[in-house]
Amino acid sequence: MRVISIILLTVLFSCSETQPNPGESSKQVDVKPTKVVKPSHHNIAYLTGKFEPKKHEDFVAIPKQYADREGMFMRKDAFESFQQMYEAAKKDGIDLQIRSAARNFNYQKGIWENKWTGNRILSDGTKASDIENQVDRALKILEYSSMPGSSRHHWGTDIDLNSFDNSWFEKGEGLVLYNWLQRNAAKYGYCQVYCEKGSHREDGYNEEKWHYSFMPQSTGLLDYAKDHLETKHIHGFLGDQTAGEVQIISKYVLGIDHRCK
Ligand SMILES: [Zn+2]
Repeated sequence: MRVISIILLTVLFSCSETQPNPGESSKQVDVKPTKVVKPSHHNIAYLTGKFEPKKHEDFVAIPKQYADREGMFMRKDAFESFQQMYEAAKKDGIDLQIRSAARNFNYQKGIWENKWTGNRILSDGTKASDIENQVDRALKILEYSSMPGSSRHHWGTDIDLNSFDNSWFEKGEGLVLYNWLQRNAAKYGYCQVYCEKGSHREDGYNEEKWHYSFMPQSTGLLDYAKDHLETKHIHGFLGDQTAGEVQIISKYVLGIDHRCK
């Protein structure tokens, strides 16, 4: 009997702990639904490279040991992961080198307009300015260069590695490096977004065996672009009137390897 009383008292005492204190309102507190906070860099200005990477708090200067020159920047998260990939590659005798990283709108405008006007020769030795039809001229430059405002290099998530020549990655040291990246880059969140055109990627730039993207950040940015980026945002440079006709958003911005997630 004494044992039962003790149990009963214990239960009562426990229950009383869950009751509101005298005087305290038993009214339920309204819980607001959790608001999904959009990352601060998911906006059109960021997407189109209208900022200075060196002044952006999410960016870091790439130390010379990882690059072919000083003064390049990329997102910190992408760089930290790159560092790990770089060290792992080094252990396997592979020397990764960043050749290009973040490029803002103005930087890309310089590249584009130099090609547009013929000041800069294209990689096949021709001059875009020799092509009179403006849409054809834009399409020619778009084989390898982005229109200002439409480049993934604006995002700080994308880097070009070792060589700008596909054939370098097809033999000797370049092929060893390429195969290593194909096997290992995904472990560090990196993916070659401009693979050969075919079933994995129908449209856009020619293949770029050197261009890798940090997917943990760039996937969200691409989703944002899919929903919000419009042709009217791609403007402010020579030849921008062709952006619609070349289908800059659907074919180029969205034209990446479907396997890169
Ligand atoms: Zn690139």
